[in-house]
Amino acid sequence: MYTGQCHCGNVKLTIARLTETATRCNCSLCSRYATLWGYLTESEVDISVGRYGTEHYSHGDKCIDFHRCGHCGCITHYSTTAKVESDRLAVNYNLFSSTEIASVRVRLFDGAETWQFINE
Ligand SMILES: [Zn+2]
Repeated sequence: MYTGQCHCGNVKLTIARLTETATRCNCSLCSRYATLWGYLTESEVDISVGRYGTEHYSHGDKCIDFHRCGHCGCITHYSTTAKVESDRLAVNYNLFSSTEIASVRVRLFDGAETWQFINE
């Protein structure tokens, strides 16, 4: 099992497996969040939230909620909204041990313009 947590420890994400790849996206939001996304499904991620709770942000077509810790503000994961039929849950691998995620190949996604992966 792999567990990542926000800076203050209020939010913990536990997953049984690491994905083969992770995505770093340069869209207007991901570039500011500096997130590294691992794409899993809702059933694959155990999310533990402490007393500070979480907050979320959605923009544009409101298809994705970006969740952050209600105390330290770290972006922990994103989930799709009811507008989308998907069980995708993306975890922010930056919350996990860098030695644990060292085996994960990072794909660079050009979410700002072409919507293509640009390093493969
Ligand atoms: Zn926190």
